[in-house]
Amino acid sequence: MADYVIEIENLVKRYKELVALDHLNLSVKEGEVFGLLGPNGSGKTTAINCILALLQFDKGSVKVFGQEMQPDSYEIKRQIGVVLQNVAVFEELTVQENIDYFCGLYIGKKDKRRQYVEDAIVFSGLEDFRKFYPKKLSGGLLRRLNIACGIAHKPKLIILDEPTVAVDPQSRNRILEGIQRLNQEGATIIYTSHYMEEVEQICTRIAILDRGRCVASGTKEELKAMIKTGEKIHLEAWELRPEQLEEIRRLRHVYQVDYREGMLEIRCSGGKHNLVHILDYMTQQEIGFGRVYAELPTLNDVFLEITGKELRDSAE
Ligand code: ADP
Ligand code: MG
Repeated sequence: MADYVIEIENLVKRYKELVALDHLNLSVKEGEVFGLLGPNGSGKTTAINCILALLQFDKGSVKVFGQEMQPDSYEIKRQIGVVLQNVAVFEELTVQENIDYFCGLYIGKKDKRRQYVEDAIVFSGLEDFRKFYPKKLSGGLLRRLNIACGIAHKPKLIILDEPTVAVDPQSRNRILEGIQRLNQEGATIIYTSHYMEEVEQICTRIAILDRGRCVASGTKEELKAMIKTGEKIHLEAWELRPEQLEEIRRLRHVYQVDYREGMLEIRCSGGKHNLVHILDYMTQQEIGFGRVYAELPTLNDVFLEITGKELRDSAE
């Protein structure tokens, strides 16, 4: 048996001249919540459509549960639940009927299906809306219905493509918690997002995509250990002189100092007690300071160091 649920090797997908996936490599192990993090246009949806054999690719290979995926690999497809980026439900069916329809594609037995549909309704918190038609649902509830339709048949592998875009905070938390619950119940999850906070919150392993390439992958700790920034210190200070900035730049572990509008941002590579050393210096120089805080690197810092771009800015 394969320990990998998904193995992608050297995947290339072009749309005419545009190279959407450029020799993409990734593998997902059973039991993971695997995050595909990347700005809009980095190739997340294209990768998912290739995994599902919904799209023909130019080069490379995709294996799901150890087998090459083909458009007619129905046995594999029944074990996959997909929640696409664009909500796809029937307007003329109610919430319950929609879930029943999608579940019915995989689960023939009526009793079993009734139970599965009920589980999906409870899971998504749609109990009070089962008789509603989609157009009466808020954006967040519609997303939750979209998810319920994708997971009702209790698949082993669940792929969710940006399920929280344009969703209110309450529904968003519910969705994120739900994904973790599905994982605890045994499903392997692939989750795409351009929100690094979400990916950090729920994913056990992360691949960072940029222009169709995987620029880094690992646990969030591994990703953060790849970069130079170990800690960022912010300090509100007035009238720092250029020679003082130069001295701060020469303190141990400090490798970058930015001073703008009274805010000093100091990037340190590793080391401990960086903040103490900096405050010692400020005291010794009798420099007054206001707000002070230190933060650990974020996935944005990882993206920034590797690609030279901000994840936030490059996502529209
Ligand atoms: P993401 O899901 O990360 O936002 P996509 O996979 O949707 O990225 O898109 C990757 C790149 O491929 C983008 O530059 C996008 O404009 C382009 N693209 C996506 N779908 C098509 C298509 N059907 N035809 C032409 N170009 C496309
Ligand atoms: Mg997309």
